[in-house]
Amino acid sequence: MTRTAALIVAAGSGSRAGGGVPKQFAPLGGQPVVAHSIAAFRAHPAIDDVVVVIGEGQQDVFAAISDARWVIGGASRRESVRAGLTALTEVDRVLIHDAARPFLPAEVIDRLVAALDDTPGVVPVLPVADTLAHGSAALGATVPRDGLYRVQTPQAFDYPAIVAAHAAWPDDAEATDDAQMLRAAGQAVAMVEGSPMLEKLTYPADVAAAEARLATAMTSRSATGYDVHRLESGEEMWLGGVLIPHDRGLSGHSDADVALHAITDALLGTIAAGDIGSHFPPSDPQWRGAASGQFLEHAAGLVRAEGGIIDFVDLTLICEAPKIGPHRAAIRQSIAALLRLDAGQVSVKATTTERLGFTGREEGIAAQAIATVRVPGVRR
Ligand code: MG
Repeated sequence: MTRTAALIVAAGSGSRAGGGVPKQFAPLGGQPVVAHSIAAFRAHPAIDDVVVVIGEGQQDVFAAISDARWVIGGASRRESVRAGLTALTEVDRVLIHDAARPFLPAEVIDRLVAALDDTPGVVPVLPVADTLAHGSAALGATVPRDGLYRVQTPQAFDYPAIVAAHAAWPDDAEATDDAQMLRAAGQAVAMVEGSPMLEKLTYPADVAAAEARLATAMTSRSATGYDVHRLESGEEMWLGGVLIPHDRGLSGHSDADVALHAITDALLGTIAAGDIGSHFPPSDPQWRGAASGQFLEHAAGLVRAEGGIIDFVDLTLICEAPKIGPHRAAIRQSIAALLRLDAGQVSVKATTTERLGFTGREEGIAAQAIATVRVPGVRR
């Protein structure tokens, strides 16, 4: 079994792309730039592990946006890559990628991984389309484009070969990329077709263009979820991850958080990934009394693993009591934190059924939810 890791270099401190925060953490399509390539690698079946190299002092920022494993990089890109390579264990191959190239098509990963069967190094390239001119001595003298390519990332390597190439590279010299180091170590580097999607974000206009590209490359999906739990004495009442004081609580196999269950099903619905019962069977003793936040986080993780962006969640609780109003803000905050959203992206409503039906007789509480997400590409 060949094990392949992805190393994302996100250690830069510059904010040339604007916004004041380092560009790899700047928002793009509702999530940080770096989150896009993390999701692309995680969604690819050939990638077994994803490690992100961040800068010293960026630990808290990164932990707030991703649960991916991270290591602290160095003063230069080369030192950051070396720190990342050192952190990998039991790996045969590694794809080294720059976080500033957020849109990573699965086909490019396919081509890189396939080419690694025959060579210790592979880079994705695009031919140079523009006319090139020399800017110094012979002003305006054009440069032949034949044989010239734009080199992108991820660059894919045999792991021992790239580790050796990094070790052999002189400490006082910089390198344009990792492929240069492998070549300097006498090893062959092959080229495969890259993608226009992999353009690097450098300037504010690049981010705006990327937003536009993302808007056309994403499809909106909405899906609903519905759940009911029985009201019983001696049970706790958890609603939206908040413990609500009440004379009775909700009974069920887990903590019976009817609100989180409805939202979990709505999110699973957006990617047609079954329902909460198929992921967390009630027959499985490990979910007895379980906090339902983990179900919701799992569903959100599945959406993000497909490159999805959660745009909005709307919840309606259906009960005579307790009154939801006093707890609405806490429930919104709790759901937003579990989903890594702003509270403004979470709506919590409540209604009664005019004392009609099982909710009206206070035998149980019902919840319904709708989630709206964007997923990459046109899905059929
Ligand atoms: Mg339930």
